[in-house]
Amino acid sequence: MSEMKSTSFLESVDLCFNQAAEAMDLPKGLARQIRTCNAICEMKFGVELEGGYEIFTGWRATHSEHALPAKGGIRYAPFADQQEVEALAALMTYKCAIVNVPYAGSKGALKIDPKKYTLDELEHITRRFAQELDKRGFLGPGLNVPAPDMGTGQRMMSWIADEYQRLHPSDINARGCVTGKPVHFGGVAGRIEATGRGVQFGLQEFFRNPDDLILAKLDGSLEGKKIIVQGLGNVGFHAAKFLQQEDGAKIIAILERDGALLNEDGLDVEAVFAHKQEQGKVEGYPEAQFFEGGGELLEHPCDVLIPAAMEGVIHQENSPRIQAKVIAEAANGPVTYEADRILCEMGVFIIPDAYLNAGGVTVSYFEWLKNLSHVRFGRMDRRLAESQGQKIIEAIESGIGKKLDEDSKSKLLTGPDEINLVRSGLEDTMREAYGEIKEQFLGNEKITDRRMAAYALSIRKIAAIYESMEL
Ligand code: GLU
Repeated sequence: MSEMKSTSFLESVDLCFNQAAEAMDLPKGLARQIRTCNAICEMKFGVELEGGYEIFTGWRATHSEHALPAKGGIRYAPFADQQEVEALAALMTYKCAIVNVPYAGSKGALKIDPKKYTLDELEHITRRFAQELDKRGFLGPGLNVPAPDMGTGQRMMSWIADEYQRLHPSDINARGCVTGKPVHFGGVAGRIEATGRGVQFGLQEFFRNPDDLILAKLDGSLEGKKIIVQGLGNVGFHAAKFLQQEDGAKIIAILERDGALLNEDGLDVEAVFAHKQEQGKVEGYPEAQFFEGGGELLEHPCDVLIPAAMEGVIHQENSPRIQAKVIAEAANGPVTYEADRILCEMGVFIIPDAYLNAGGVTVSYFEWLKNLSHVRFGRMDRRLAESQGQKIIEAIESGIGKKLDEDSKSKLLTGPDEINLVRSGLEDTMREAYGEIKEQFLGNEKITDRRMAAYALSIRKIAAIYESMEL
């Protein structure tokens, strides 16, 4: 993060919120009620490990409770702190409202470097954290539902689910206390790729809007567009892979912890990822130029820049040198408030985090619904749809007097399985929300960019809920 950065992540989120709220006509004090973080708990707990007792510090913030459960990831990071958790929890509130996911926002973190612990130790620590969260009312399928975030993943989510189930053996919905679980333990197909998929769907929708393309000084489709991705973690990897393999975009640069790769003809994302998995770094990947550090590649000319790692990577100091036409915020808070102002002034089209990375929580919502309904998506209707498809094929074939080709047949014969339903639900969500944000943008002249429009959209929806509640 830059030393020139003068507002914190939390301040950035609040400033954007305030700006949007000012453009709206809200009852006195309501904006403040929506913006305020309702509860934050700092937990210090001891864990007995091989080398003795160790004390860990964790947080969970419930930003709002206008809908329940409150939802949001748990981050494991050595730099985690309370303010960051509060900022991320607020973003979760706005994110859920934007994509019409009926949750309030929450977020958690544990101050830990997961790489320094064995798997057994991590399990012990995670189970202890789950106990602490449960004890304090920050865990439960109807109350507060964590999910993976930076430094956490499927395995940890299954430990949390299992621990909760032990503590509440008669709760039939216990597994719905956390999302992002492995499919064999109550997860849903497509959750791992969900945030990256959502980024792809959001960008596809942007390219379906010619008037937005004009604002961004772009034309055409994603095919052949030059994209730079910062961070090849779960989100960055999946977004880059889908955009390259399915939309024909060129991923010309990938920035990672050790440095950056550049190839103007396009990198093979899966090959770079495999190299990184094997070597623990991108350096040494053969078909690219390597830049040590590599931060300067954020400023390299491209059509779309996708920051997909940390908050605050685009700041006051480097933002004037950014040459991307679009910034697609796959990470939470990658652009600081000051940088956002500078970039908007420069005419860069920013697709904001609170919308663009909402694919994760959207598919979490599907997982939670699956947990509460205790049935896999597609289980009841798949065969029925297939037999209807068969009847349609027969009717067409008898009508046209010849056999259909195998490809058309197999399309008509495929009933909805879980992964297809999840992808369809996610695509619908991202397309609908894009349109709703755009409507806000076009419908209020005080709203000058998509971030402000996204915030205004969420404020409008949350305000309506508060106005129906007794406070
Ligand atoms: N950690 C993800 C996010 O920041 C997902 C949250 C969730 O699925 O609840 O959006």
